[in-house]
Amino acid sequence: MHRKKSASTIHAYAARAPGKPLKLHTYEAPKLGEHDVRISITHCGVCHTDVSAIDDYYGITTYPFVPGHEIVGYVSAVGRAASGLKEGDRVGVGWQGRSCMKCEWCLKGEEHLCMDIVKSGTWVPYGGFSSSIVVDSRFAYPLPQAMRSEVAAVLLCAGVTVYSPLRTYTKGSAPKIGVVGVGGVGHVAIQFAHTFGCEVTAISSSPKKKKEALAFGADHFIDSNDADGLRQVEFGFDLLMCTASDGVKWEKMLMILKKKGRMILLGFPTMALHPLDLVAHELSITGSFLGNRSAMKETLMFAQAHGITPKVELMPMSQVNKAIQRVKENKARYRIVLVNKDGV
Ligand SMILES: [Zn+2]
Ligand SMILES: [Zn+2]
Repeated sequence: MHRKKSASTIHAYAARAPGKPLKLHTYEAPKLGEHDVRISITHCGVCHTDVSAIDDYYGITTYPFVPGHEIVGYVSAVGRAASGLKEGDRVGVGWQGRSCMKCEWCLKGEEHLCMDIVKSGTWVPYGGFSSSIVVDSRFAYPLPQAMRSEVAAVLLCAGVTVYSPLRTYTKGSAPKIGVVGVGGVGHVAIQFAHTFGCEVTAISSSPKKKKEALAFGADHFIDSNDADGLRQVEFGFDLLMCTASDGVKWEKMLMILKKKGRMILLGFPTMALHPLDLVAHELSITGSFLGNRSAMKETLMFAQAHGITPKVELMPMSQVNKAIQRVKENKARYRIVLVNKDGV
């Protein structure tokens, strides 16, 4: 008598060592925990964070490593205690696929700060460049019916990354905001900040992005290499949202913050700055990481209600290495989402 297989085989793309191209990787689907759902993946975004993690930039990557954390698909199996979702539901999952649910931060509803955050990523054990994934149902979000899957995929990471700090730091006011970097996250930040009613200035080292930045909703554009242009906005901004992955001119950026202004770091650029302005003008530099579950839900609803639409290139998942190369070379305009048409 044959033993019935408890789970099907999953086909994914994995890096087997830092910096290596992704290759097909098969593994047995993890057992479904009582709160878990299995999701059959149709779309997965390629994020700068995936590309850095392939190279173990964060020091948390284990190999073989299947990247992918901007996941959209259909629920294909539901755990015993998973409530609110059923087979066939279209859902999205971001960077976080579970959390301990018992640490100080989880109990406060700040699950994205879970003390066990490394184990909470959807990358663990394997991420979304794959035919399917198992996550805690409490981190799988039903999607608005009219929202395109590739749009949802980007909102689940870049969207919540900008929505969450805007929710925290605008609080009923409409601060003057500078968005530093007009790329995968920056073009989404401009759209959200504009919709929050803020006066938005896009700040980029690529003057050729001016036209698009204004079309995304920026009121003004400044070339970050234009010293005169920056001098004209000295003490000009309440908030700077730094979306650039590198090349930030720190002292110039601090110079254009108002006194008591705040720079919010959304990426991981190298930091080098003289603390003079930081101290003398009582400036703050704050990190902001994703958002909690309520921010995830609000991001999707807010974007749907206001027509916020990230600009996406679609590519078949079989071209994952080509997509990664485009992200590495900053050629993606502005995000790439892989489509799993006929399975991996
Ligand atoms: Zn991401
Ligand atoms: Zn926790």
